[in-house]
Amino acid sequence: RSTLTSNVGHADFVVVANRLPIDLERRPDGTEVWKRSPGGLVTALESVLQASSGAWVGWPGVPDANPEPFEADGIELHSVPLSAQEIEYYYEGFSNGTLWPLFHDVIVQPEYHRHWWSAYVEVNRRFAETVAAATAEQGTVWVQDYQLLLLPKMLRQIRPDLNIGFFQHIPFPPVELFMQLPWRTEIIEGMLGADLVGFHLPGGVENFLYLASRLSGYETSRRSIGTARKGSRSGVVQVGFREVKVGAFPISIASGKISERSKSKEVRQRSKEIRKELGNPKLLMLGVDRLDYTKGIDVRLRALEELIAEGRIGASDVSLVQIATPSRERVEQYQTMRTSIEHAVGRINGLYGTIGHPIVTYLHRPVPQAELLAFYRSADVMLVTPIRDGMNLVAKEYVAATVDGDGALVLSEFTGAAAELRRAYKCNPHDLDGVKDAIELAVGDDPEERRRRMTTLRRQVLTNDVTRWARQFLKALGGEELSAKL
Ligand code: ADP
Repeated sequence: RSTLTSNVGHADFVVVANRLPIDLERRPDGTEVWKRSPGGLVTALESVLQASSGAWVGWPGVPDANPEPFEADGIELHSVPLSAQEIEYYYEGFSNGTLWPLFHDVIVQPEYHRHWWSAYVEVNRRFAETVAAATAEQGTVWVQDYQLLLLPKMLRQIRPDLNIGFFQHIPFPPVELFMQLPWRTEIIEGMLGADLVGFHLPGGVENFLYLASRLSGYETSRRSIGTARKGSRSGVVQVGFREVKVGAFPISIASGKISERSKSKEVRQRSKEIRKELGNPKLLMLGVDRLDYTKGIDVRLRALEELIAEGRIGASDVSLVQIATPSRERVEQYQTMRTSIEHAVGRINGLYGTIGHPIVTYLHRPVPQAELLAFYRSADVMLVTPIRDGMNLVAKEYVAATVDGDGALVLSEFTGAAAELRRAYKCNPHDLDGVKDAIELAVGDDPEERRRRMTTLRRQVLTNDVTRWARQFLKALGGEELSAKL
């Protein structure tokens, strides 16, 4: 790792996200260490970043940290510092207290505060300045997600020479909900600073095109862009002399790697051990989520409780493992939701558990990847029941990890993944009886049929991996050369 201050401004390809691909951690004694946080996005973009003198701009994860740019694994890392108050107003506030619930169908009430908005504007501007200083002439910048919706326009104002892409990882809401936002026009204009705006689903594209016309009066047209599949909706917004392309690019996972690792002896053995440690249940069900109110953890707990109460699933047969990563713990709604989920787990175990056999094993912590894959491999039925989810990578990971083809995915229709994983056991999370029926069908289905479904799902997930996603986006952005490096 070397300091690279002199190289600032030389990156041809820059990824911008709220967080850097590695996290700075501050120990109680005040010393700091960098820890890798291996997300799918990092895996997907690593090769193109390394091959193209690439840089990543993001917040290091702790207040007031402002290290000089440095290189790690062939990628230049540029930090954007945030004060404790900016973390509260820009990140926990406007990003996760306003935009997140508004864009997830107002499952909880979004809050609109002008001081949150001011911090959001201010932080987006700081990101824009850092990116402008890091990127080479005519370079390509790929902006990620809802924390940085204003960045494309701000960046274009400083650096009109750049090729700017924006991708939104969370849903883009229905027009009627988006219209609640006091700063709706600024947000749309901010996104339109990009040359290409990407969403997971055609529905997001439609909503965005409509809003660009309604709020800003721009002309829009439906047109196929880049490598978008035939029939998928995409279009163009005419912003003055500039054309902004808008398209659907459903993200995926490093499916090949996950499948290979799941085949390893280590994971296979551990998956057997897990079943044994759980007392070899006849039916092992699994939930894996960030602890978030969008994920419908409460829905699946209620469904299981009723299925047991009605005798449709035997209490002594079933074991549900729910792994929930702690998330956004300082935001009030997350505290309330955690309490209600832990309450539900306690109630089910109190009612139906026996000594040595609780119904629900609840782990409120992140688990290492090999362990996670072992859980996926050991599960008979995977429960993915969000009320709303942009994509849901867990569903795809489960499919990739089910290497013996023996497993069933119960999947909410309200996830982006449902558009591709058509052969999953689908359910509407608002319809509790429907969720119960889907679980019962997944459990009791003819084993041949279950296997056929999983085979189809595996083909879908293994063919469409995250590298393909990145390649298609970069190709549509005009970076034939860049996309070839993936
Ligand atoms: P979101 O991005 O909203 O958290 P996704 O399902 O799209 O939801 O992605 C979640 C990612 O976090 C997945 O890659 C999943 O493997 C990982 N993850 C979720 N829960 C855990 C956990 N308890 N331990 C480790 N990784 C987890």
